[in-house]
Amino acid sequence: MKRILALCLSWIMALSLFTGCAADAKGTRKEKIENETKKLSVYTSFYPMYDFAKKVGGDRIELVNLVPAGTEPHDWEPATTDMVNLSKADVFIYNGAGMEQWADKVIASLENKKLRIVEASKDIALKNGADDEDGKDPHIWLSIRNAKKEMETIKNALVQADPANKDFYEDNYQSNAEKFDALDKEYKISLSPVKNKSIVVAHQAFGYLCHDYGLNQIAIEGLSADSEPDPARMSQIIKFAKDNQIKTIFFEELVSPKVAQTIASELGAKTDMLNPLEGLTEEALASGEDYLSVMRSNLKALIGALR
Ligand code: ZN
Repeated sequence: MKRILALCLSWIMALSLFTGCAADAKGTRKEKIENETKKLSVYTSFYPMYDFAKKVGGDRIELVNLVPAGTEPHDWEPATTDMVNLSKADVFIYNGAGMEQWADKVIASLENKKLRIVEASKDIALKNGADDEDGKDPHIWLSIRNAKKEMETIKNALVQADPANKDFYEDNYQSNAEKFDALDKEYKISLSPVKNKSIVVAHQAFGYLCHDYGLNQIAIEGLSADSEPDPARMSQIIKFAKDNQIKTIFFEELVSPKVAQTIASELGAKTDMLNPLEGLTEEALASGEDYLSVMRSNLKALIGALR
């Protein structure tokens, strides 16, 4: 009887040991699969950062843009839910150079020690805003050459955060960088023969673009898109437009075209859209527009205005 009991006990022990081992092996395997398929959680501040991260990260990252579609980012601020989400993310990408005025405060308040923070503009020489404006011009992504540099900085950060997908990120960066170079060349070839080099734009966003191709902007509003021009500024712009034989007054997608229309009718000029890519509308995103397609439309608009 004692022997039988002992045999039974050893059987039970063996069995539990066996099932225990099996459960362990199963658990480890499950964890391993989860680690392999867990995508990097990446948050971006506003549209160009989102598009550059998407071009590099593709479907290997879980990408969220903070500023909603169709929203002008200059006066946007994150809500509490955005802060909660950021506190769980792996990577946060922002333009910097003063574009996201909330960024420093938000970054300082985050207690997420594993969060990798990427200031995409960090390797770019900043320009001052024009004439009456103080401070640095944050609109660096409107230079295609700068945009490529920002995309490279984003690529390097993704490679560091997720070395297992290094080749994927490098390849995506490379193929997109070639497209950026080709579009830059197209701009250079198309804009170098134009005689008129001056444009009237909605807000002072195109300084870096103008610098790349020898153009000159005068803006209805300042560095941020939320101010209304006073009568003195209006007459200054109208005089500039007359002196420079300007036939097109540019407005932008996310700001009311009213002031541009008033100036255009005063001059007998037409209006057209020049998109600073600070955000795309839901419709534009749904129809597959991106940095490259919008910049190509901008080039057409510029050629139309300057020839
Ligand atoms: Zn702007």
